[in-house]
Amino acid sequence: MGVVLILLGPPGAGKGTQARMLEEDFGLIQLSTGDMLRAAVASGSEAGRQAKSVMAAGGLVSDEIVLAILQDRMAEPDVKRGIILDGFPRTEGQAAALDRLLATKGQRVTAAISLEVDDEAMVGRVSGRYTCACGEGYHDEFKRPAVLGVCDKCGGTDFKRRADDNAETVRERLKAYHAQTAPLIAYYEGKEVLERVDAMGDIAAIRDDLGAIVSGVSA
Ligand code: AMP
Repeated sequence: MGVVLILLGPPGAGKGTQARMLEEDFGLIQLSTGDMLRAAVASGSEAGRQAKSVMAAGGLVSDEIVLAILQDRMAEPDVKRGIILDGFPRTEGQAAALDRLLATKGQRVTAAISLEVDDEAMVGRVSGRYTCACGEGYHDEFKRPAVLGVCDKCGGTDFKRRADDNAETVRERLKAYHAQTAPLIAYYEGKEVLERVDAMGDIAAIRDDLGAIVSGVSA
């Protein structure tokens, strides 16, 4: 496998947006456990049924379900190009499980990039966002398509907002982030793979900062 990158940051930090850009810029594969869980919910699978109410309340789905879904995805051949983990790991248990899984492949985390943002701005960022059916993300204020209602990438007009992107649930998700995920910053600092990026600026500037880090670690 190529590089293994982790994007850390609260909801709204820009993990998904930047992961898609790293896919484009470096030919890496974005692995979003949130997307995988939403697909499981939509499919009505047993895992999806269990995850649904937890996700709607802004809590964390059990490590068992998340690890099973991620492991299946990581068994597919395209991950050999290198991966960007978006929304995973979210607990120390998940981080340790990832280390074990990578060790079986003779691999380790290449870099964990912490997208550093102000919490107060996250409710607004998350509340205004929506996604085209093709996967391209938009925002009412920060990233409008050139023609309102038409996707810049695919020309489609089928947009969706996430059910958990309302102000109340975002506050719960921020709490879960600080209680369970923020400690991973110290975890990866201890492993000397942590990189910090100021993620309050504009999307293109953050893309450049991440690009410099990824170029550095994949050289
Ligand atoms: P996200 O798309 O990353 O914002 O994730 C949406 C929701 O899916 C979260 O609020 C959690 O309920 C759940 N989720 C996603 N990734 C994980 C994970 N690694 N561990 C536990 N729950 C997760």
